[in-house]
Amino acid sequence: MRFDAVYYEPAALNYELGRMLQEKYAALPWIEIESHNHIPELAASENRDFAKLKNHLIIGTRKTHKYVPNHKVSDWLVPYTSSGCRAMCLYCYLVCNYNKCSYLRLFVNREQMLDRLLKKAAAAPSPQTFEIGSNSDLLLENAITDNLIYTIQRFAQEGRGHLTFPTKFDMVNPLLGLDHKGKIIFRMSVNPQEIISRIELGTSSLSARIHALNEMAEAGYPVGILLAPIILLPDWKQLYGRLIKQLAEELSPKVKQNSFIEIILMTYSFVQNAINTDAFPNSVMLLNRETMTGRGRGKYCYRNEVRQEVEAFLRQKLSEQLEDMPILYIS
Ligand code: SF4
Repeated sequence: MRFDAVYYEPAALNYELGRMLQEKYAALPWIEIESHNHIPELAASENRDFAKLKNHLIIGTRKTHKYVPNHKVSDWLVPYTSSGCRAMCLYCYLVCNYNKCSYLRLFVNREQMLDRLLKKAAAAPSPQTFEIGSNSDLLLENAITDNLIYTIQRFAQEGRGHLTFPTKFDMVNPLLGLDHKGKIIFRMSVNPQEIISRIELGTSSLSARIHALNEMAEAGYPVGILLAPIILLPDWKQLYGRLIKQLAEELSPKVKQNSFIEIILMTYSFVQNAINTDAFPNSVMLLNRETMTGRGRGKYCYRNEVRQEVEAFLRQKLSEQLEDMPILYIS
């Protein structure tokens, strides 16, 4: 993966992963920073520099480790080895949190983070599921750090319960041969190819994602599908109708019989709209005031009556074509 500069906290080089990255990206300029949380020269850049900022790699250590209770596929959201991302999905919720600075930040103290997770898993009254991929795309990150290889192997040996993460990428080869002991739930996020090409910039194609999901199921991982986020372009019924047909044709019998579906409708925000308008002036307009509701400078989501129509449509198509796959929730 190509970057143009590395911004790093000097303490990161006290860790094995920090030194590995130093060697791997030795040809790039390395710029010392005080804290990955605030890099004044980057924070001061303009919205239109958004894509340029994504070329930087930030390296530091994670200091906050607060787990947030969750009630969907997992019991806990865990801040893990990275935040931000190299890709540029126009709706990415990380942009809400980090604004322009949603570039990839790697945290090299992975041993510490996994030790903590293992302890929490062991101490819980019953086996828990931990979502480790809510702050970045860990499959993409793994292509730089091998962190998933490290995490899966160690959690399989020492962990209680499950880990899970979603992805929009297809680089699963390094994970296929790992002894995961069924403790890692792999979830693939899908959207119609037209939406991937125009809105999920820099992510893997739909057919590559389907292929990767089939391979992970074949390798024995528990798997699931995220239809997410559902984006209501004017021809959404055709787009999602075709997507479900393609899934029915190309998913392996193993995936169809053993996995589940999550459905999430897109939310959008004033900040995202402002960044996208300046950084990607020719991109699809995601804010639609007819179908969406929301407060001035806050968040926008689809109106209730629109959501109901979408839900009824998707439930019907899925029950016709992927009837063995339970829908866990629609949100
Ligand atoms: Fe955000 Fe995920 Fe897209 Fe990366 S792949 S930009 S984390 S939505």
